[in-house]
Amino acid sequence: MSIVQLDEYLIDQIAAGEVVERPASVVKELVENALDAGARRIQIATAGGGKTLMRVTDDGRGIPREELRLAVRRHCTSKLSGGLDAIASLGFRGEALPSIGSVAKLSLLSRAAGAQEAFEVRVAAGACEGPMPGALTKGTVVEVRDLFQSVPARLKFLKSDRAETSAITEIVKRLSIAFPGVRFELSGPDRSRLVLEAVPADEPLRRICDVVGRDFSENAVEIDAVREDVRLSGYAGLPSFHKGNSLSQYLFVNGRPVRDKMLISALSGAYADMMERGRYPLAVLFLEIDPSLVDVNVHPAKADVRFRDPQLVRGLIVGAIREAMAAEGVRGSTAAAR
Ligand code: ADP
Ligand code: MG
Repeated sequence: MSIVQLDEYLIDQIAAGEVVERPASVVKELVENALDAGARRIQIATAGGGKTLMRVTDDGRGIPREELRLAVRRHCTSKLSGGLDAIASLGFRGEALPSIGSVAKLSLLSRAAGAQEAFEVRVAAGACEGPMPGALTKGTVVEVRDLFQSVPARLKFLKSDRAETSAITEIVKRLSIAFPGVRFELSGPDRSRLVLEAVPADEPLRRICDVVGRDFSENAVEIDAVREDVRLSGYAGLPSFHKGNSLSQYLFVNGRPVRDKMLISALSGAYADMMERGRYPLAVLFLEIDPSLVDVNVHPAKADVRFRDPQLVRGLIVGAIREAMAAEGVRGSTAAAR
């Protein structure tokens, strides 16, 4: 057998294996794009647990007609002009849309800021149609239909509509905490709806309560600590306010939601003497760190991060939480804080 260069459609499908694991990963990429475009209002609609339809509508800056075809092409991005050390956006790899387009029917309808008209491109089975004129007053509408219909092996691994819908909800909640000034509306099957109204920047706890639950604020202590220019802020739940899984841990690195093993384990470590094993503390924590000291480019879905000095970050999390709990007089925390 001889070595051949794969065609772009196949390359995209292979990459999609990493970027697009399930409907929630598509929603994540589309909502991140809307946020990167400066949207103030984002609507997400799904059907069939996202398997039949996901539609994300935003009022962001839109995509000019001449860039619409580029937006769905591999390695085409408007976000990396500052290089990998200066990433200020959620996206930067230029692979989400081409990957999605290789495993689903994808359409992008957009009206760029200042443009007189809207245009649309459609991608299916590796072929791109358009741009053709469409109707839209502002922003972008991205529609994804029939996810994995062309890749039955992947379709088989998806869970029930209900489970996929709840994974989508989880993703939207996580992103919404990082962007309290943006209004999010998620509508799913049976007219179910999650509406998160925009909240003023000086009341970040409001969005957190909207997402995590009203009682969180009464059962959490505020965290604000700095160690060698790394800042940790947010809220850590009282040990009595625990859960059976780590889903209620909302962790952010430079405004990006992450599910990083080291951070999750540091959080458990902080509560080790205050909580039974197998229980998980609730927490909403924001880590701010010089972008050159953290690599977010570890995994295509960008859920994992790599710190230059993980011990510093771990120590900051464990120390800050234990001190805050000790100051509250929480049992078990004083011994731990020493
Ligand atoms: P990335 O986000 O890594 O750049 P994507 O494949 O997600 O890659 O998107 C490609 C490009 O399409 C983006 O860089 C951006 O310029 C444009 N784009 C995608 N979605 C939107 C949107 N909702 N609003 C404006 N521009 C968008
Ligand atoms: Mg993107």
